Amino acid sequence: SRREIARDEHGIDVTLVDERALNVVRTLKEAGHEAYIVGGAVRDLLLGLRPKDFDVATSATPEQVKSLFRRAFIIGRRFRIVHVVYGRGREHEVIEVSTFRAYMDNASAEAVAGNERTSRSELAGMHHAVDASGRVLRDNVWGPQDEDATRRDFTVNAMYYDPETQIVVDYHGGLKDARKKLLRMIGDPTARYREDPVRIIRAVRFMAKLHPLGFKLEPKTGAPLSGCLPMLGEVPQSRLFDEMLKLLQTGHALDTVAQLNALGLAQGIYPLLSLVVERAGQPFVRAALEDTDRRVGEGKPVAPSFLLACVLWADVRDNWNRRLAERQHPFPALQDAIDEVFSARIGDVSGRGKLAADMREIWMMQPRFEKRTGSTPFSLVEQPRFRAAFDFMRLRADVGEIDVVLADWWQEFSTASDAQREDMVAEQR
Ligand code: ATP
Ligand code: MG
Repeated sequence: SRREIARDEHGIDVTLVDERALNVVRTLKEAGHEAYIVGGAVRDLLLGLRPKDFDVATSATPEQVKSLFRRAFIIGRRFRIVHVVYGRGREHEVIEVSTFRAYMDNASAEAVAGNERTSRSELAGMHHAVDASGRVLRDNVWGPQDEDATRRDFTVNAMYYDPETQIVVDYHGGLKDARKKLLRMIGDPTARYREDPVRIIRAVRFMAKLHPLGFKLEPKTGAPLSGCLPMLGEVPQSRLFDEMLKLLQTGHALDTVAQLNALGLAQGIYPLLSLVVERAGQPFVRAALEDTDRRVGEGKPVAPSFLLACVLWADVRDNWNRRLAERQHPFPALQDAIDEVFSARIGDVSGRGKLAADMREIWMMQPRFEKRTGSTPFSLVEQPRFRAAFDFMRLRADVGEIDVVLADWWQEFSTASDAQREDMVAEQR
């Protein structure tokens, strides 16, 4: 049932709302449409957090939205949303605007999608979005706001906030759950996990973020999680890989590992993720996870290649050492070690050329740090991936794998003037 909640009761501080998001809502409303801030931003506002990004939900179609803004782009074929863009370059910001969608459980979605001969006018009468051939686009079936709420995942993610009237619209008791600090799936949890198994991973992601704030997983939402894991078999590997990276880059990577263990999900989501959980206790991997969380917390970018290079380093190093003991030359030995680890561990990432190439570079630069004479240091420091490789080497030094003096030397070298660099190299002789 629909509830409208006024400022007195929900207590959201409207100054936490981004000016651009406010502008998008206002523009849509002035044009006669319904428009609200929605989803995770409302959840964060209720918890007194400043949302990192804002999504807007509206009754306007993507074309109508696009026509109202100077820089707006319709994105996606199946799931069409509009990106309203403000500012340029590094400072640019995107507000994602989506049209209210109908809730379709699997049965009704299949019924509509299977009935391709239904005439276009019939479909239009059903308020279903159709493409040029009359085919129903499963995720693009427009609907009323209450259905838009019901298709969302967790009650705390399904609220709407109008920053002008400061009213929160709540259909599923999201406010009550936020107060009780409960993460609760809307509807029957098992059915919702079956509908979209990625929701299993989303439960982990939100618990990692919210557990430190005192949230608990509502028992009926949590109980089926581990039993539903096999459903992830139907999700494309590339989507699982992306979700895994999201889990590790939320700024709560260590909490994520703790949640995966607590929820019995350490095995069965994605092999590389299980490996992260397994190795999170090792000083080097732990340091990498802490470092990632710290960087995200400071608003700095994090590269998935760096973290994955850390997670797989033990394999590369052991393989490399074995080859060195067999008297192979260091560089080809390292090349071969990397090839072997890639095919054993990360075959599922073969489509990700750039990521794998970055990991390889971080690893291949490690032995070059040992050589501090001649022209090597000068060319190394100019490499585009120097910073990542140096940070990696610094972590190795932090855990005692190599001499801290070496890391300090490179730290100084990388920030020194040309003349100072000449002196530093000369001193090595
Ligand atoms: P974050 O703060 O991490 O961005 P979020 O709640 O905003 O969290 P998004 O992935 O940005 O999460 O999605 C925005 C909203 O869209 C969610 O709050 C939820 O209402 C809805 N949503 C996203 N993915 C799903 C899904 N797989 N199933 C149901 N609803 C979803
Ligand atoms: Mg979001």
